[in-house]
Amino acid sequence: MARFHLNFAERAMALNPVDLFDVRSLLTEEERSVQDTVARFTDERVLPIIGDAFDEGRFPRELVGEIAEMGLLGSSLPEEYGCAGLNSVSYGLICQELERGDSGIRSFVSVQSSLCMYPIFAYGTEEQKQRWLPDMAAGKVIGCFGLTEAHGGSDPATMKTHARRDGDDWVLNGSKMWITNGNLADIAIVWAQTDDGIQGFVVEKGMAGFAAQEVKHKMSLRASVTSALFFDNVRVPEANRLPNVKGLKGPLGCLTQARYGITWGPIGAAVACLTEVLDYTKERILFGRPVAATQSAQIKMADMARRITNAQLLSLQLGRLKDAGTMKPQQVSLAKWNNCRMAIDIARECRDLLGGAGITTEHAAIRHALNMESVITYEGTETVHQLVIGRELTGINAF
Ligand SMILES: Cc1cc2nc3c(=O)[nH]c(=O)nc-3n(C[C@H](O)[C@H](O)[C@H](O)COP(=O)(O)OP(=O)(O)OC[C@H]3O[C@@H](n4cnc5c(N)ncnc54)[C@H](O)[C@@H]3O)c2cc1C
Repeated sequence: MARFHLNFAERAMALNPVDLFDVRSLLTEEERSVQDTVARFTDERVLPIIGDAFDEGRFPRELVGEIAEMGLLGSSLPEEYGCAGLNSVSYGLICQELERGDSGIRSFVSVQSSLCMYPIFAYGTEEQKQRWLPDMAAGKVIGCFGLTEAHGGSDPATMKTHARRDGDDWVLNGSKMWITNGNLADIAIVWAQTDDGIQGFVVEKGMAGFAAQEVKHKMSLRASVTSALFFDNVRVPEANRLPNVKGLKGPLGCLTQARYGITWGPIGAAVACLTEVLDYTKERILFGRPVAATQSAQIKMADMARRITNAQLLSLQLGRLKDAGTMKPQQVSLAKWNNCRMAIDIARECRDLLGGAGITTEHAAIRHALNMESVITYEGTETVHQLVIGRELTGINAF
């Protein structure tokens, strides 16, 4: 066997197993520095606690202050609102490195940044931006985003939650389901039917008639808070309505932002799983040799590296298009579908390569595999994104 091993010099030339095409060399210095900062945070602060947090079904809220200090909340929004003003590729790298830790941590940042801060920035008044964005960037105000309702998340046009104008207020009734950060949130961006189409409202914790109830018994995203929201004649002042958008394009515009970041996150989850099994299979001796020395394990791991490389290049190009202002929602759909499928398959295959050890949260693969069940479903299921691409190719709407 020894003659097949690479010698030292050859090994020094070997490809980085989790960046086979040196995608990192395509990043700017600033982007690399962002990636390194978040990678260090994940290694030092997330990985030591996340297995337990997942077991306990607990979002590690104690990390929010540091996440905010690093400028990871609303990182692409301008500095005048207390944000970091980073480009889209940097935002993607933040998502990738956080999700190398856990999808729940990345989800927290995605929701705060793309689903709450972004709509206030894009659809709000200057007063609303000044009122909320700096505190949200600082992690002092946590947000959630209420679009999905229990009767069918894939078809949000059937929304039943509605708001009726009454003097200087709106009266909000209805409910939302599967809302990330729901019980943590100080404010909720809530989408509701009105006489003038779907509109967005900033509903504040403590408003009479507004309640959140945490979803229990989750087997996925256990280190994330998921809730149902209820609105019973909640009086929301006109000053809390986001005035600059009407119709479904409001929430869908936010989802495009968030989904873009989600294309990067699963790369981190897959990298975490592959790294883990590379180490494990080199140590695990079966039938007199390491599992890593078998052709079958090598083919599996090579195939994982191939799929990760494809995903890395897809997201990077998507980020460059976004920064150039030419990214299309269909491109986001293709990348979200591809990268989630890549990561869920890799996490499951890694779980298998770990054998029995792979079924506990002592190893990361099962946690990532379970998390990916949510990530492949939320922000448009795999089927929904496939149908978006199908419609793009054929010109026929098959929804
Ligand atoms: C952990 C978690 C966190 C979430 N966070 C949020 C949040 O913060 N805010 C928010 O608003 N929502 C959130 N969601 C909701 C999420 O976006 C929805 O679950 C998702 O859009 C799917 O909706 P649904 O669950 O109602 O499934 P359904 O829409 O009922 O879909 C059921 C099945 O039907 C399939 N399907 C749908 N349409 C078609 C079709 N035309 N042809 C064939 N098959 C089809 C789907 O692919 C799926 O397999 C979250 C969900 C989860 C699980």
